[in-house]
Amino acid sequence: MDVQRKLEILADAAKYDASCASSGTERRDSSDGKGLGSTAPGMGICHSYAPDGRCISLLKVLLTNACNYDCLYCVNRASSNVPRARFTVDEVVKLTIDFYRRNYIEGLFLSSGIIRSADYTMEQVVSVARKLREEHHFRGYIHLKTIPEADDALIAEAGKYADRLSINIEVPEENSLAKLAPEKDVRAIRRTMGRLRLKLDEAKDNAKTATKAKPPRFAPAGQSTQMIIGADAANDKTILDTSANLYGSYRLKRVYYSAFSPIPDSSRALPLAAPPLIREHRLYQADWLMRFYGFDAGEIVEERAGMLPLDIDPKLAWALRHRDRFPLDVATASREELLRVPGFGTRAVDRIIATRRLTTIRAEDLARLHIPGKKALPFIVLGNHRPARHLLDGESLAMRFKPKAVQMGFGF
Ligand code: SF4
Repeated sequence: MDVQRKLEILADAAKYDASCASSGTERRDSSDGKGLGSTAPGMGICHSYAPDGRCISLLKVLLTNACNYDCLYCVNRASSNVPRARFTVDEVVKLTIDFYRRNYIEGLFLSSGIIRSADYTMEQVVSVARKLREEHHFRGYIHLKTIPEADDALIAEAGKYADRLSINIEVPEENSLAKLAPEKDVRAIRRTMGRLRLKLDEAKDNAKTATKAKPPRFAPAGQSTQMIIGADAANDKTILDTSANLYGSYRLKRVYYSAFSPIPDSSRALPLAAPPLIREHRLYQADWLMRFYGFDAGEIVEERAGMLPLDIDPKLAWALRHRDRFPLDVATASREELLRVPGFGTRAVDRIIATRRLTTIRAEDLARLHIPGKKALPFIVLGNHRPARHLLDGESLAMRFKPKAVQMGFGF
């Protein structure tokens, strides 16, 4: 099989993994004339490579889509009837370098089905990164998928070469994992996440105390994970509780949510239809609220419903459930309070705090501060604006934000 055909199969097989974004790495470049490529920290980079040649920043491929495991939700499972392919280490290295030189990509996202053993597969994945870094002096971004059962020494080596490491938690609840991926062991997954956290903490401490010599690097962009949404019955509250636990226990950089997509010849244990994509989007918004807006997982989802509303964003839904906390006087509210106002992003709050030191903020200033007035005005008091109490308390407020109902077609 030629490399082009392998690429079609192995890039397509990798597209279900959402856990690759290249934010938060260290800055490296080759402006000194040595090495190849560069990374720019904080840049939001897209995640994939399409087989039609269109570059989407990271070359996102599997080393192989053959796998010993039979995870029911996975198109690459052992019992799946898909064409199989396997790259050699040198083929992935060459593809990465060629694409990088042609400016198609900014880095590599490499994962793999498990063949022979966890150690053998991990060794192959690490070999790609080792060759790129040591033989080709590649300084672009590398994200490696880590195999939980792999030996500690291999994981340490992966961290030496990769910017980011990730291990998929797969599904939100342990008992679902036992049903859907019986060969996977949630304790091994969590144990490896814990090992990564220790190594990341150690690297951070070493960097702080280092005097002259550069301390050994370990995955400067940290670790992330992916959760499949809608393959089991877990509700949004359970999903966000699991994410909060993962962020707290293992200091993950990101939890990625990937809406389950039905796969050919799937097991009856799986739903027939994919969850609405908007559910994935709402979970990302809720995740953002936990990480940057000071919300606890428990307060984002209404306990009784267990699910995030799909028609409005989770912060607006929270504000509508807590109308007694509004209207908030923008001139005196704390940063924490301002972050809870619908339509106020973190940067907008910083701009508000800087502006209110100098002047009274008025309704017409919102546009200048890049704040959507329609969303925020019912919840705030400004120099020349106070929302009517009946508006804040009335049923019609929620209706203002919901998308208008659309008449369905009659089919004639
Ligand atoms: S181990 Fe990974 S590649 Fe293999 S079947 Fe499970 S999810 Fe798919």
